[in-house]
Amino acid sequence: MKRLQSLALLAIALCLSMPAMMAQSPIMGFSDEASKSQIQLEEDYDKLLTATNLDEWMKYMTARPHHVGSPYDKKVVDFVAAKFKEWGYEVRIEKFDVLFPTPKLRLLEMTAPTKYKAKLIEPAIEGDESSKQIKEALPGYNAFSIDGDVTSELVFVNYGIPADYEELEKRGISVEGKIVIAKYAGSWRGIKPKLAAEKGAIGCIIYSDPKDDGYYQGDVYPKGPFKNEYGVQRGAVMDLPYAPGDPLTPGYGSTDGAKRLKISEATSLTKIPVLPISYNDALPLLKAIGGPVVPANWRGALPITYHIGPGPAKVRLKLEFNWDLQPAYNVIATLKGSELPDEWVIRGNHHDAWVHGAADPISGLVAMMEEARAVSILAKQGHTPKRTLMYCAWGAEEPGLIGSTEWVETHAKELSEKVVAYINTDGTGAGFLGAGGSHTLEKFFDQITHVVDDPQKGVSVFDRRNARNIVNGQPSWSHYKLSALGSGSDYSPFFQHLGISSFNMGFGGESSGGEYHTMYDSYKLYKRFKDPTFQYGVTLAKVAGRTSLRLANAEVLPFEFKHFTKIVSGYVDEVTKLADKLRKEADSHNKLIKSGAYDLVSNPKDNFKIPGPKTPVPYFNFAPIENALKNLKEKASEFAMASKKGVSNSANTNKLNKVLKSMESKLIRDHGLPRRSWYKHHIYAPGFYTGYGVKTLPGVREAIEQKNFDEVTEQITILSEVLNAFSANIDEAIKLMK
Ligand SMILES: [Zn+2]
Repeated sequence: MKRLQSLALLAIALCLSMPAMMAQSPIMGFSDEASKSQIQLEEDYDKLLTATNLDEWMKYMTARPHHVGSPYDKKVVDFVAAKFKEWGYEVRIEKFDVLFPTPKLRLLEMTAPTKYKAKLIEPAIEGDESSKQIKEALPGYNAFSIDGDVTSELVFVNYGIPADYEELEKRGISVEGKIVIAKYAGSWRGIKPKLAAEKGAIGCIIYSDPKDDGYYQGDVYPKGPFKNEYGVQRGAVMDLPYAPGDPLTPGYGSTDGAKRLKISEATSLTKIPVLPISYNDALPLLKAIGGPVVPANWRGALPITYHIGPGPAKVRLKLEFNWDLQPAYNVIATLKGSELPDEWVIRGNHHDAWVHGAADPISGLVAMMEEARAVSILAKQGHTPKRTLMYCAWGAEEPGLIGSTEWVETHAKELSEKVVAYINTDGTGAGFLGAGGSHTLEKFFDQITHVVDDPQKGVSVFDRRNARNIVNGQPSWSHYKLSALGSGSDYSPFFQHLGISSFNMGFGGESSGGEYHTMYDSYKLYKRFKDPTFQYGVTLAKVAGRTSLRLANAEVLPFEFKHFTKIVSGYVDEVTKLADKLRKEADSHNKLIKSGAYDLVSNPKDNFKIPGPKTPVPYFNFAPIENALKNLKEKASEFAMASKKGVSNSANTNKLNKVLKSMESKLIRDHGLPRRSWYKHHIYAPGFYTGYGVKTLPGVREAIEQKNFDEVTEQITILSEVLNAFSANIDEAIKLMK
């Protein structure tokens, strides 16, 4: 019944979509006349895209491990630079010497109740030649774990996120002085050692449980693409929600003469040693843990009953790293704008990988390179974009967005003045278009999703994505909805540090696997299980290429504020409801303590502790934000009315574009967010305790969540000022349109 209904809805939705009509309507920011030539340009652009290029380049760039500082990373850099030069771009390689620790010694052994020494290797796979290059590859480790030699009992902490520690507290279990073992997933990995250290743990082990990432998901490599028992997810654990980039030069570029902190002064390193392991190595440890059985939703898919501990399993974790500076190379390829050379549209994707990195990041990089090649041919045919286009292949993204962050910090002033928007990709697969970004460009991006076709189904990428929403029982989309950006790729310095409108996009949903940051993210695996003919890579080049070209050619920059206003109103609703919810929860929790109910339901065998009372949550005055929002709504509508009159050809167009270009920067404040001033955006930030996951209206939201009640009031004032400044800037734009 439910399925039939879904299919009926799908049919209606597909009939209602009108890609042909959309294609004829003017493109945002273009006059009717200019729209026509832009559409023609895009048709010519599409014809130039050649899937075999993506294949050939990926094969070359993934032939050997190419992590930061490796010989093959430099080869990849030279290869990319040579291609851009060949296509006629002005190319420079900007090198930053940055801290990049690599393992010198990794030891994990169980000393009681039985002995076990972790293997810590990913064996070669028959039929995948690159998996044999073990000597050249970085083994499984977490970059920016500190050195350490610790021995203690193990405690299983599920994902090691705040909710898990609340469960432990209820049971009276402390991790003080212990070593925790946490599953990957549930949060960004760096949160796990950060929180464990805050709770007093002295070491942290992270493993991939087959339930989230392994045989429970599907056939494992090499039979299928999912994680086999030896696969280890590498990855950075620096305190990214505090600040990305080189830990030795916080907030400024690590140029040759820059002052560098001592390693002991760097605040974004972990406080305790941390090591990632496979489920083959995790199984004996987990098997040996005793104590209470874990809550039902903590259980993984290993053939054991999971226990919490502490002990009797006791382990020794000894880690030593080479704390060297390594070169992060950024390849910057520029095509000077024909009319507005001082307005820049920047497109980027990183090139460094943990190992071979076919999916992450090369699948995205080859799509960007094909975009750049096609754009260069159009330029040679006399269609150089009006604004300057820059294609950037970033180095040292994997350890902490380091290449892009150092570049942005070094050139902050010029970038703030010149950049119209930044468009990021970072690997891609097959299936459905996923995109996040600035909501002032949501309507603009929506148009693009209606004119690019899905390569398998022949409908627009919008229709295919929307069909999935409907089939999954979610509301049908009236337009393409951009998700809010948190962190985890190179858009972060542009977006959250400088306040430059940004996008991040890629395809996924039909290319799942367990290769992420392992020895097995190879060309072979990509060709077998991801996007074998690179048809989605080409589709990504169509979507991202249109985004770049339209922004570079628009007569009036295609920003719009009604979508943004609606989205922000939604966020304001969320934070006011959050305060109400926490208030009710605290009240009912405290009542249950008083009534003795907690005591009556607790099972004595579980050793449940009666929890302590929660701080009552006061009522907050959200009026300043509501008033600012009302003002914003009025200005956004006025701007929409003024825009309807069409593109003005007056001398004011240049002035108008300047104002529009500066809109996103009105959402940042120099002082940044509390306790993390690098993050300056007051609408979007990665969560302090979620990592990659976004927190919208972060100042207000996190003050409520963390129960910093005085700070809530301060942040309400700041947010209302930010919104009012934004509205005032819209007003400037309106004046220029009259
Ligand atoms: Zn990546």
